[in-house]
Amino acid sequence: MPQNDLTSVSPAVEQATAPAAAARPRKVPRVVVLGGGSVGLYSARRLRKKLGRREAAIVVVDPRPYMTYAPFLPEAAAGSIDARDVVAPHRRALKGIDVLQGKVTALDHGTRQVEITPEEGDPYSITYDHLIVGLGSVSRTLPIPGLAEAAIGFKNVEEAIAVRNHVINRMDVASSTWDPELRRRMLTFTFIGGGFAGIEALAELEDMARYATRNYATIEESDLRFVMIEGSARILPELSEPMAAYALEELKKRGIEFHLSTFLSSCVDGHVVTSTGVEFDSETIVWTAGVKANPVLGESDLPTDKMGRVTVRATLQIANEDGTIVPDAWAAGDCAAVPDLLNEGKFCPPNAQHAIRQAKRLADNLAGVLRSEEPVEYKHKSVGTVASLGLNKGVAELFGVLKLRGWPAWLMHRSYHVMAMPTGNRKIRILIGWIGQFLMGRELVSLGSLHDPRAEFRAAAVPPKPKAEAPAQSAQSSAAAGVDPDLSKQKGAKTA
Ligand SMILES: Cc1cc2nc3c(=O)[nH]c(=O)nc-3n(C[C@H](O)[C@H](O)[C@H](O)COP(=O)(O)OP(=O)(O)OC[C@H]3O[C@@H](n4cnc5c(N)ncnc54)[C@H](O)[C@@H]3O)c2cc1C
Repeated sequence: MPQNDLTSVSPAVEQATAPAAAARPRKVPRVVVLGGGSVGLYSARRLRKKLGRREAAIVVVDPRPYMTYAPFLPEAAAGSIDARDVVAPHRRALKGIDVLQGKVTALDHGTRQVEITPEEGDPYSITYDHLIVGLGSVSRTLPIPGLAEAAIGFKNVEEAIAVRNHVINRMDVASSTWDPELRRRMLTFTFIGGGFAGIEALAELEDMARYATRNYATIEESDLRFVMIEGSARILPELSEPMAAYALEELKKRGIEFHLSTFLSSCVDGHVVTSTGVEFDSETIVWTAGVKANPVLGESDLPTDKMGRVTVRATLQIANEDGTIVPDAWAAGDCAAVPDLLNEGKFCPPNAQHAIRQAKRLADNLAGVLRSEEPVEYKHKSVGTVASLGLNKGVAELFGVLKLRGWPAWLMHRSYHVMAMPTGNRKIRILIGWIGQFLMGRELVSLGSLHDPRAEFRAAAVPPKPKAEAPAQSAQSSAAAGVDPDLSKQKGAKTA
């Protein structure tokens, strides 16, 4: 048994007694939800509300013990929201639902089996009667020299907090470094991809870093260099051209450098080279150039499109190329090609606004189908786009007519997303955090050691090297200079 207090799943038993168990029909149908993100969390919760425990057992599988509300990641990176508050812990949010912590590593819908690989221990399989796929997306990268070694993504809370700590840490170290070349390198922050996630991450972190300079006697605002490299001729394709142009101008006024219609050619050892021949060194390279559907789906027997997304009908039932429904299989969110019925021939864009609404429609449809009702098609007219460009700065376009700039847009961004954040508990925590920050200012400490918390203990735990017989002459000269011979040896080792 895995570590969870499962009531409906016992994979070890299933494996050990596979033939016998397979022959025995389950009393209560089991719905397995792959992924506990926006789609997984919302669909499982809604399904639990609609169906009693005697009607369905629900199991959510995710390697993380929490759902991340990604629209708040840029604010978490800037320290405007505590990292813990942008996640909804599964065990608290998924009452009456079994949670299996592990990665889905294989899926065979033909035999209704999912293989799960836990963080520790051997992979195991579980079976199901109904499947919900909410596996989301992963960073879409390119084979650019140096990218895998030098860059970091911005898709999850771990990455967002690592970027935050890294930016503050580079400022800490640069403030005590007099080598101008090294300082420039440390204080150059590069972002690749000017879509929503990239622009918000860049704008929030630049805002934070500029605010932070007041704490450093040796770093001026003008010492910071923030660079955006974007392949297309504009930023924020989710906004209309005039509003995106406004955002671009605002960011340029803050000194942010934009290289549009430009691609990253290489970044080996942090040496950035662009397709237009620009070269510079940067110790921070954040990759936000788009996402692709979770690759585990491409290896399953579910139908996928050219972009690797599971193909679904507007009812969110998985369907083959010819439109025939794959029985007992549902999908939504970033990993699914959901037809946008209000924009003929198009698919819903991969965002939280759609993912959360699709999840609720999906759950209602699945519950309905189990009660022999007809599923309803997903249809949603976008309420618009809101983006934060730093504290008190933003841009928003709502209902196709309302265009907001500056702090009203920023306020709209915060209000919209705090309402969309799952669980009342998180909403309240975020609001309290904002009030605290309003009264006491931003917290700007880098907890870089979080990423290797055992380093200091490891160093202390290494047994001291046996003392070597110091050459008489060296000992004499040290004594003459009033220096402890051991200390001078350590210093030599450190600076070597
Ligand atoms: C920085 C950033 C900012 C954004 N800002 C906005 C915004 O302002 N507005 C907006 O509408 N949208 C925004 N989005 C997009 C939005 O967050 C996503 O579209 C939405 O979360 C998609 O929901 P999902 O359930 O499909 O995927 P996710 O919420 O990503 O959930 C996928 C889940 O699957 C799990 N998983 C992954 N692999 C496996 C596996 N092998 N086995 C089991 N589980 C697995 C993951 O751990 C995760 O919990 C932003 C995204 C990012 C990254």
